[in-house]
Amino acid sequence: MKNKVHVKKGDNVIVLNGKNRGKKGKVLGVLPAKRMVVVEGINIVTKHVKPKNQMQQGGLIRQELPIYADKVMLVCNKCDSPTKVGKKFLEDGSKARVCKKCGEVIDIISETKD
Ligand SMILES: [Zn+2]
Repeated sequence: MKNKVHVKKGDNVIVLNGKNRGKKGKVLGVLPAKRMVVVEGINIVTKHVKPKNQMQQGGLIRQELPIYADKVMLVCNKCDSPTKVGKKFLEDGSKARVCKKCGEVIDIISETKD
């Protein structure tokens, strides 16, 4: 798939460039069509919100804006360093994402067929 993003929701990533360079956060969402990701604590904007009705309070809300997925790199939970993601088949036939640095399995992409 052309628009495939190399990270997914729940991944820990580090920002490689821009004003948030070096910051780490968890991926909150992925926008594959735009090749963008929303990362917890990164690229936060403060919005003024007007109350729509009497039940709702107006005020300031803080919200993460998407950043380009190319600007982030996965951080391996095992070796705690930014790494590229590899893929391999495990002995039981399931497909996994692996850390290219330490070789540890990050997670299982698909279970064994049938
Ligand atoms: Zn690793």
